[in-house]
Amino acid sequence: MAILIKNGILITLGEENQVIENGAVLIEGNEIKDFGPVDRVRKPTDAEEIDASGKVIMPGLICLHHHLYSTFSRGMRAPKKPARNFIEILEKIWWKLDRALTAEDIYYSSLIPLIECVRKGTTTIFDHHESQSCQLGSLDEIQKAAEKIGIRACLCLGTSDRYGKGKEGIEENERFLQKMRNQKGLVAGMVGLHASFTVGDETLDRSVEIAQKYNCGIHLHIAEERADEDDSLRKYGLMVVERLKEHGVLGEKSIAGHCVNIDENEQDILKETGTSVVNNPESNMNNAVGCADVLGMMRKGILVGLGTDGMSSDMLSQMRFAYLIHRHTAQDPRVGFSQAAEMLLKNNPQIAERVTGFKVGRIEKDCLADIILIDYLPPTQLNTDNFLGHLVFGLVNSVVDATICNGKILMKNKRLVGIDEERITQKSRELASKLWERLSY
Ligand SMILES: [Zn+2]
Repeated sequence: MAILIKNGILITLGEENQVIENGAVLIEGNEIKDFGPVDRVRKPTDAEEIDASGKVIMPGLICLHHHLYSTFSRGMRAPKKPARNFIEILEKIWWKLDRALTAEDIYYSSLIPLIECVRKGTTTIFDHHESQSCQLGSLDEIQKAAEKIGIRACLCLGTSDRYGKGKEGIEENERFLQKMRNQKGLVAGMVGLHASFTVGDETLDRSVEIAQKYNCGIHLHIAEERADEDDSLRKYGLMVVERLKEHGVLGEKSIAGHCVNIDENEQDILKETGTSVVNNPESNMNNAVGCADVLGMMRKGILVGLGTDGMSSDMLSQMRFAYLIHRHTAQDPRVGFSQAAEMLLKNNPQIAERVTGFKVGRIEKDCLADIILIDYLPPTQLNTDNFLGHLVFGLVNSVVDATICNGKILMKNKRLVGIDEERITQKSRELASKLWERLSY
């Protein structure tokens, strides 16, 4: 099955980004087989043609840190006494919620943001899951949801000892990795840990053993708030990143979410070990935990990517948040813009490929066919030199018209293909109401 997208403004991204005014892309199977000016691209007679006039054609976007299960918190009753800090936010909201999730809840709460991914043009996500009362089999539920909607996903369970269920978390990560071992589809796995302050040494060591056995990295939260560092210093006499290095958690395939409160020495360790960092600026603002020193980390050569931390599935808006917060925090109008774009458009694809092998985030021959079309009539000239300005100030507010992932059309003319959104949202509402009743305040 071939798909030919033509007549749009093609932004290829990748090493040699090109902006082609009247561009075309040919997809065969799940890969990109040709692209360029429309009159130079091969046109198989049996190809399904998509007219992209008045639209930008670009690679699907990548979210490096998501929490699909967070869906059921939308509109949830606020705690009687508002959370005063990050740990209280976890205790009063997230840990309550994740502890109440059933297998069916996990499946339906995953479908909703995955549909949002389709609508916002995010075709790859790295999910960090937690469901303390339903760990075994939980990753299968998310896999089922990702495959149902058609979004590429790298999954893990954030193992935690906070309720004495670390062993079970490890078991789930290993079970899933074993299952996925020789599969090359939409979904991949990695080892997950919640965060240093809820994970004991035994759990750390066992998780590292599994990561080594399956040749994958570890996805965890690092120093999202100062309390993580205080806990590590108190219990182990080490800063979080020092502790994680000692146990072998860090490395080129590992993903460190947040790193808001790490110091200079910890940054150096992340650089030495080749660990990728994921910045989640919108979530950091929401939790009032501060702003990560992303500019400093990037100057050191740490690969910093971008995620939403479950706040949304909209990566262009996340890029804009990143640009604004880092410029604002630095109080320097010379910085932030290019770094935000670098995180989303260059580093996210690089990290995604390094961790999973997925060749995504660029329109290049033999890369995976993850492509989006966005409605856009440029009000000023759009070219290779200035496309970032159009992304951050124009396309960010435009509507995604079509989403293709792995060579499959998930949305066309703004209509979801083969996804019954009304039925899914109705079921989601029913399940969320039942879950809210189970919560104690
Ligand atoms: Zn997170």
